[in-house]
Amino acid sequence: MPTIFEQIVSGDIPGRIVHETDTTVAFLDANPLARGHTLVIPKEPYEYLDDMPAEVASDVFGVVHELTPTIEDAVDADATTIGMNNGEAAGQEVPHAHVHIVPRFDGDGGGPIHAVSPSRPDLSDAELDDIEAAISEG
Ligand code: AMP
Repeated sequence: MPTIFEQIVSGDIPGRIVHETDTTVAFLDANPLARGHTLVIPKEPYEYLDDMPAEVASDVFGVVHELTPTIEDAVDADATTIGMNNGEAAGQEVPHAHVHIVPRFDGDGGGPIHAVSPSRPDLSDAELDDIEAAISEG
């Protein structure tokens, strides 16, 4: 069963497509958090960020980089929040990787990305050392 985003790519369901390349599509979110809320996706239905080949991830983030100022200008935004819900535990609902570009406006009442977590872990230096090593040694 194709994902709903594959169906937008194929034209089987309508989408407000604002940008397209050989490997990516960008379209307006159907349930926008703000005017101009846009999703950038790979055309292939990779579910998570790390399912995408590096060159496709590069294409997707290249489009995010290119489109963000265009979107800000189009809706006269003061800023943008950009991010992915990368996995169900992070709130991903559509199993087709996508980057949200959400225009932000002075005084819009929204929060920063830090608002995704209700609390912050209290980490010891030893725990930080372990995390630093685990990431840097990959
Ligand atoms: P996420 O929770 O990150 O998986 O977000 C999925 C996003 O896809 C939500 O913001 C939805 O409003 C959006 N969405 C779902 N179906 C459609 C659709 N047919 N066209 C455009 N956006 C959609």
